[in-house]
Amino acid sequence: MAARLLEGRPVADAIWAEVDAGVSRFAEMAGRPPTLALVSGADDAAAAYGRQIERQFVRHGLRVATSSSGAPDYLDHLRGLSADPGIDGILLLTPLPDGVSPEQAALAIDPVKDVDGQHPLNLGRLAQRRRGFAPATATGGIRLLKHYAVELRGARTVVVGRSPVVGMPLALMLIDADATVTVCHSRTADLAAVAREADLLCVAIGRAGFIGPDAVKPGAVVIDFGTNPQDDGRLLGDVQTDAVTDIASAVTPVPGGTGPTTVAVLAEHTLRAAELHRAG
Ligand code: NAP
Repeated sequence: MAARLLEGRPVADAIWAEVDAGVSRFAEMAGRPPTLALVSGADDAAAAYGRQIERQFVRHGLRVATSSSGAPDYLDHLRGLSADPGIDGILLLTPLPDGVSPEQAALAIDPVKDVDGQHPLNLGRLAQRRRGFAPATATGGIRLLKHYAVELRGARTVVVGRSPVVGMPLALMLIDADATVTVCHSRTADLAAVAREADLLCVAIGRAGFIGPDAVKPGAVVIDFGTNPQDDGRLLGDVQTDAVTDIASAVTPVPGGTGPTTVAVLAEHTLRAAELHRAG
């Protein structure tokens, strides 16, 4: 039997419905919309992603202030946004300009405006199982799993990828949700055999079709975060979706799986930052 497709759109719609109500309430009280500062990245893909964020935010009543800066002034630019009372959240599009250290950039963001959870304080809070801003894509993955009532408590879980943006925070959130988590990466020996032990397999490595049927346990739930644009215009995930569909019990499609939840979570975080900001 073909695996159930776990579509991201209904998950994102549910998040947006709550954001819509909160944005109206906030705008009425504060006399302005929640505002995200979007700092441009260094390539066209970042620009396209930025436009997508802006379109969706504006459609739901949030404001986006787009800006850019070169390497010499980049950190000062971020410090300026951190101090600006009209800005609630800050999102850095990647790649960062040449010569800017990701660590220094994250440190230049006020942690209470860090809506994509990249400041060490927020990642540290996540590791300590305390509330803070967690990275949006990983948070969206957890929301998707909860939306489709995938059992996390005690689930034997493998996360493939350990970046601070997706894999590592996702592993921490899954541990917090009582899953038993193994993390794989580029140095993992016999990755397919490790992945095959998972009842829940989450993949975020950025390699089209890397996970095939040999890495999937019969009946597993497979969550694919990969977004790999192809020369022919297609977008492929890290999982060979068609090839695993007769083995897995459920799988996220690409596009249309984890992708739609990320921007909705960023909006939710921007609203929360605005509310915290207003509460002082
Ligand atoms: P990244 O920073 O490049 O990290 C990739 C991770 O995958 C690293 O931990 C790396 O291991 C691991 N890896 C790479 N090649 C591997 C291999 N052959 N075998 C095992 N592990 C391997 O990428 P990222 O930012 O986490 O993004 C991962 C994917 O998610 C990309 O396709 C990206 O486009 C996508 N993404 C999607 C969204 C969304 O909204 N759905 C958002 C962000 C990213 P090492 O640590 O050992 O190098």
